[in-house]
Amino acid sequence: MHEWALAESVIKTAVEYAGTEKLKKLKETGVLFGELQAIDKEIFLFALEELRKQYPAAASCKFKIIAEPAAFRCKACAHEFPLKGLKKTKDEAEFIHFIPEMAHTFMKCPKCKSPDFEIARGRGVSISYLKGDR
Ligand SMILES: [Zn+2]
Repeated sequence: MHEWALAESVIKTAVEYAGTEKLKKLKETGVLFGELQAIDKEIFLFALEELRKQYPAAASCKFKIIAEPAAFRCKACAHEFPLKGLKKTKDEAEFIHFIPEMAHTFMKCPKCKSPDFEIARGRGVSISYLKGDR
């Protein structure tokens, strides 16, 4: 059910934004979808298409999912590095995908070798852009 709650908050935010921008009808909403987001994309899209009917401004809005690649930021040297391209086995990649906090176990900052880093991108779902008619 997490997908539905998330879809609803995306639509509500889009409709709110349309209001402040004086857009009468939303045509397209770009939704950034983090690589590490543990929700089902198909269910999420389905939920968006079902829930939009409840909001007149979003009733015919298309939702475009944009994949956001995961990236980490080193706390020691502030170097940012993507999840992709790091040497890891398939099992490790899968593990990181489900429990990003455990990435420390397998990975080090490629620049200074510190294991102390945080997730910079790829966790959440957010609105990237809105298109609509005034
Ligand atoms: Zn570093």
